[in-house]
This record gives sequence, structure tokens and C-alpha cells, in this order.
Amino acid sequence: MTNPDPRATFVSLLQAEIEQQQLTPVIREYKTGEIIFAEGSLGDGIYAVLEGRVHISAYVSQTSSHSLGEFAPGEFFGEMSTINVAPRSATAAALQDSRLLFVSRDQVMELMERCPKLVFALLHAFSNRIRETNAHFVHQMLEAERLSMIGRFVRSIVHDLKNPLSVILLAGDAAASSNASPMLREQAKKRMHQQVDRLSRMLNELLRVSEGSTQHSVEPVNFAAFIAEIIEETREELESKKVRVELQSAVPDLVFPLNARRLNRVFYNLFGNAADIMPDGGVITIRFQNTGGEIITEIEDSGPGFPPDIVQKLFTPFFTHGKATGTGLGLSICKNIIEDHGGRIWPVAEAGRGAIFRFTLPIES
Ligand code: ADP
Repeated sequence: MTNPDPRATFVSLLQAEIEQQQLTPVIREYKTGEIIFAEGSLGDGIYAVLEGRVHISAYVSQTSSHSLGEFAPGEFFGEMSTINVAPRSATAAALQDSRLLFVSRDQVMELMERCPKLVFALLHAFSNRIRETNAHFVHQMLEAERLSMIGRFVRSIVHDLKNPLSVILLAGDAAASSNASPMLREQAKKRMHQQVDRLSRMLNELLRVSEGSTQHSVEPVNFAAFIAEIIEETREELESKKVRVELQSAVPDLVFPLNARRLNRVFYNLFGNAADIMPDGGVITIRFQNTGGEIITEIEDSGPGFPPDIVQKLFTPFFTHGKATGTGLGLSICKNIIEDHGGRIWPVAEAGRGAIFRFTLPIES
């Protein structure tokens, strides 16, 4: 069964009822560009397009207006202010020479009283229009949200870019030094490669956010090798901040599906936050627990811990506390990444201890 356009149904019912009641239809003709009614004028009736095309627009500021749509033959407009007896919320103008059927408010009311089908058709057309408006509104909201997210994300990425750049600078200086041994040069080269890699990953992430998607694909990864690589990659940068990473339990030597590139970011962010909170240096302790179904990773620092009132807000995007350059995105990104892996992340606040973050990663066979 086809679903007829409710606007066309309303217009044809209206025409049929006018004929049945032997009323004389009021036909109004407009030349291209001519105003049919202006925003703010009192709603006195409904218009149905018989021929031509009508454009509806509303002012969004004193000098600019926003197009709300066009109406073709079989469609009607002007019903809202007619029913509410309110000023017109938009301006209607003829886009082409147009012939319109005008039905005054009193006549519309009378016809609807006689013909309940007309009321139903109008309700149907209304609900369709609300649905279209909602979809349009949600789309606009998402777009605005995405654009503002990109703006803030750029700030965070630009901030994050400074770290790899400073490591590259240090490594470059070390390699260029006249008494650098071949081994030191080789190490510096490796570090530079790692950091350039990290920079390109960050830029890719930014690109993905700006495209509106975050791809999440997994492949089997050896967890122990993955952790060893992260510790190796971050060692120099952390050492320069007098921060030491200590493994307090063996890393489970298991292979399970991960997105290593994204999970990397979780460790970088948690290590980065720990280093930020310990400006005079400290220790980051990592522990693992294999529960059979999942691996629990615990990362603890020797900093002051979280003030109790912020624990609930830690993972809220853009929540930042006590940092001049904080963007509040690091932990929310960690949460997204862990959840995309099917895990959970949560903070543990224990009196007398530093901050502890625990997260789970399911081990699928
Ligand atoms: P940002 O670091 O840009 O502020 P995050 O989402 O990474 O954003 O962190 C949010 C807030 O959580 C931080 O501003 C900080 O107040 C708090 N926080 C994060 N990690 C720690 C930590 N290891 N110790 C104490 N507070 C922390």
C-alpha cells in the first residue's frame, strides 16, 4: 500500500469540501518575487499551491534571513499562524508566477467542523512536518557539536604535539653532538622514528574526528610485547620529567584482539596525566591481573591523587581541573577507546595514595 503525501491529501480534501459546500474558492495570483505574506503579519488563512512555486524564509538576524523551504503544487502553507491566530513566523514569496487557493481562518474552521477527515489530514501533515523539522534540527545540532569538538580537539592535539617534538629535538641534538657514538646515533634515530610515527598517528586521529568517524578495527596482538614497546617508547620522555615506570607484576603473555594504535593512546594519556601531576618526578606503577575472561590493568602514580569532588567528572569530555593547558579530552578519549575494546575504565581514589586508574580488556579466543 502506498502512503499518499499527507499535504496533498489535505489540499485535495479541502478542495473537495469547498466544492461540496458550494463555496466560491478564493484564488490569488502572484508574480515572481511578489510577497504573499510577510513575517509578523497576522495569520488570516491557509494557502494551497495550485500552480507555480513558493519560497518561505525567516529572519535570523536584522539583516539576514534563512530559507525554510519551498512549496510546489499540491502543498499548503501558512497553517500555523492561522490556527494559532498569531503573527506569521516567516515570509512567503512567489518563486515563479503562482496561483494559490486561499482559505480564510473562519472557513478552515468551519470546513474542519463539517469534515473530521480534514482535521485528521491536517494532523497527519503536521506530524510529518514536525518529524522533518526534528530530523533537520538533530542534523544541525550534530554538525554544530562536531565542529565545536573539532575546534577543541585541534587545541588538544596541538598541545599533545609539543611532547613528541621536544623528544625529536633532544634526540637530534644528541645525534648531532660531535662525540656521539654510533650506538647513540642509532638510538636517537630510532627515537625520532617512533616520535614521528606518534605525530602521524595523532594527526590521523584528528583527521578521523574531522571526518566524523572513529574507525575501530582489531587484530591479534601479543599483550606483553605491546606493553614492552610502550614502556620503551615513553621511557626517555618520562625520564626527562624524572618519572619512572615500574612493572609490579608480569605482563600476561597472551595474544588477543586489540587496536594497538588506539590502545597506545590510553597509556600515553594516563602516563602524561601522571607526569603532569608530579612536576618534581615520581613513580608510575603498573599491575596486571588475569581473571580468565579479561585482563585488568592498573596504573597508579605517586602523585597527590584526585580531589574527591572531581572523581565523578573525570571522564566527562572537556572536564579539566587544576591545569592551565588542560583540554579535558584525555580521559574521555581513554574511555572511548577502552569501551570500543569491550572493556571498562574507572578511577580508584584511596586516601593516602596517588591516582589509580583500572581498566579491563576482554580476552577473546
Ligand atoms: P586534561 O588533562 O587535559 O585536563 P583529562 O581528561 O586527561 O584532561 O583529565 C581531566 C582531569 O582529571 C585533569 O584536569 C586532572 O584534574 C584530573 N586527573 C587526571 N589524571 C590525574 C592524575 N593522575 N592525578 C590527579 N588528577 C588527575
